[in-house]
Amino acid sequence: MARTRRALAALLLLLTAAACGKEGSPPVKGPRPEALPHYPVNTSFRLDSSPTWRKAEARGHFVVGAKEDQPYLGEKDPATGLYSGFDIEIARMVSASLGLDPARISFVTIASANRETALQNGQIDYYVGTYTINDNRKKLVGFAGPYYMAGQDLLVRKDETDIKGPEDLAGKRVCSATGSTPYQRIKQDYPQAVLVSYDTYSICVDNLLTYQVDAVTTDDAILTGYAAKAPDELKVVGKPFSQEPYGIGVPRSDNALRFAIDDALAENEKNGNWKKAYDATLGLSGVPAPQPPPIDRYPAG
Ligand code: GLU
Repeated sequence: MARTRRALAALLLLLTAAACGKEGSPPVKGPRPEALPHYPVNTSFRLDSSPTWRKAEARGHFVVGAKEDQPYLGEKDPATGLYSGFDIEIARMVSASLGLDPARISFVTIASANRETALQNGQIDYYVGTYTINDNRKKLVGFAGPYYMAGQDLLVRKDETDIKGPEDLAGKRVCSATGSTPYQRIKQDYPQAVLVSYDTYSICVDNLLTYQVDAVTTDDAILTGYAAKAPDELKVVGKPFSQEPYGIGVPRSDNALRFAIDDALAENEKNGNWKKAYDATLGLSGVPAPQPPPIDRYPAG
């Protein structure tokens, strides 16, 4: 079938996009290094009241949890092992403000369902990866920020005409990531949808391209990136139906670290680094830089 062949071609494109860009292959539509801000390291910074910071300082760098398959947000180049995207830039600007070389960050890919455990068991120092701040999660981890406001949306195939919003999902196969807020919302508010879940959204997108599901649901910022990589095959419905404030996850008891990251975000929003980083990464998916949301410096407790 022609449409299956087309879908498979698009899938192949998605799978190989990150590996291209060498001589003889098409260029990668990723951040141009010269467009990214330079983050000078605040070498006189100390945060001895933070156990996480003390451990990182002794080690010489932060260990940061991230995503590796979300275009323009957190992507790992399989050829070089290097991470790029808006979330990765947020992690770097924070590291520099907290006195540790951003070029030395050790990034670890952590899926949506495993973020709280990774912060609780000390596997990572902080987490930057489309991580919605909410009260349930605040019982388990701390959140600096927010540094960006997303909203839940739907990704469908280009020729889809039935699905115009979440109310059209009854009887449709919908895919999301295990442990995510979009998964929970469909389960609770749209129980007639046939919900399936995987560890990552890129597996959901593969399933959409091969007609195994009818829609993928998660934040608009994530879906826009997948659609931009396969514009002939996929489209975002474009009617966000939630608010997803992105925070930086930290160990729950480390309030000193949380407040220091709040300060770092405020400083980088003020000095223009935030906007420059956005324009060079997430901005490539076609959405102009919004105003960052106000930081919620909620009290320790
Ligand atoms: N922002 C949502 C969440 O934190 C969806 C994206 C994700 O799974 O990372 O659950």
